[in-house]
Amino acid sequence: MEKTLRYNYRLNPTPVQEAKLIEFGATARGIWNLLLSENRRRYEYDKTFLFYKDMASLLKEIKPLEEFEWIKAFDSAAGQQVARDLETAMKNAFSKGRLQRFPKHKISYKKKKLHNDSFRAVNNSNCIRIEDGAISIPKVGKVPIVLHRELVSNIKTVTVQYRHGKWECSITQEVECKTAKQVLETLTGFDINSKQTVVGSNGFMADNPKFLKHSKEKLNQLQRQLARRTKGSNRWQKTKQRINKLHGKISRQRLDFAHKVSRQIINETDIACFEDLNVAAMQKFNGSMVVDNVMGLITQLSKYKAELEGKLYHEIGRFEKSTGICSECGQRHVLSLNDRYFTCLSCGTYQNRDLSAAKSIARTSELDLIAAGIVAKVLKPTSQQKYSIKMKVFELSKLDCGSEKREAA
Ligand SMILES: [Zn+2]
Repeated sequence: MEKTLRYNYRLNPTPVQEAKLIEFGATARGIWNLLLSENRRRYEYDKTFLFYKDMASLLKEIKPLEEFEWIKAFDSAAGQQVARDLETAMKNAFSKGRLQRFPKHKISYKKKKLHNDSFRAVNNSNCIRIEDGAISIPKVGKVPIVLHRELVSNIKTVTVQYRHGKWECSITQEVECKTAKQVLETLTGFDINSKQTVVGSNGFMADNPKFLKHSKEKLNQLQRQLARRTKGSNRWQKTKQRINKLHGKISRQRLDFAHKVSRQIINETDIACFEDLNVAAMQKFNGSMVVDNVMGLITQLSKYKAELEGKLYHEIGRFEKSTGICSECGQRHVLSLNDRYFTCLSCGTYQNRDLSAAKSIARTSELDLIAAGIVAKVLKPTSQQKYSIKMKVFELSKLDCGSEKREAA
């Protein structure tokens, strides 16, 4: 099984290259808007759409025309990619047999430092390569790149984008997953609480880092400053730019944190179990915390890391409640947000709220997975005639890779 992974790298273009990148970003936006308008026109006329092929040939047709000269300067594969992306967006906009809403036109920002145009180049016959600290991008040239981590395989596409005041490119690569493990030994439940601390039923704990809190306080301060300034004034623009930069910093810090936590989670367990995000969010998160979705990031990243390692990721059902359940006897308790510890009314065990929740997630997951026939519990001999009963051993049977193997055998 292959997975497409995306890695982001910083670019340091020369002024000439930067001008080219800005121009290409604008061109990609122009092509998107042009094709989208054509699609809208078509849809209003006879309720049909242009598919990728139609759009690609349309581009070919108009290219020689004088008024579309701006398209000629553009990398033609990148132009086709815009058509492909638009087709995907249109298909996604379709559900339940009808169009829900059209994709949107892309707007340009008058202030150069705030624009967020992007374009995607496709690696046809190795035209995109990384050599001597630079990445070759068609019709732009060799742009210096900060290669903070090695590539894992061949480059598929490169998206160049100006974000939060810096140039970056995101490179997609095909990565081969490890074969699914036949025996999974450990199952761990993870609870993410309202303070965004991650607690595992195996005793794992990761705290919401302080630097994120610092950055957020700084952001609030800047936003208050922005409100005091005259909209559109020089000082207003300056604050606006600082806010934009800080947003970039926060999103990088958050991603970094989520990557590290999910890496630890997957290293320590074979089956990682979480609560369904939507319910968990409704139960625990309110206001700004929903926007600040570290939680979603951690589960997303854990999921793909588990898949890469041939391990298992599981989310428990929508209406399973995990908070306030005694980890010893299963008694339910109603806890307020401030109760970090509680004593079980039924068996008297004094326990940590988050750890109990994590244990309850682990237990529900185990039952789920066994009921679905995905895993089975087997006894594992530890020495002659002795069996460990505490050790849980699971056998894969219904996983994609597992079932293929079985049929082949
Ligand atoms: Zn109890």
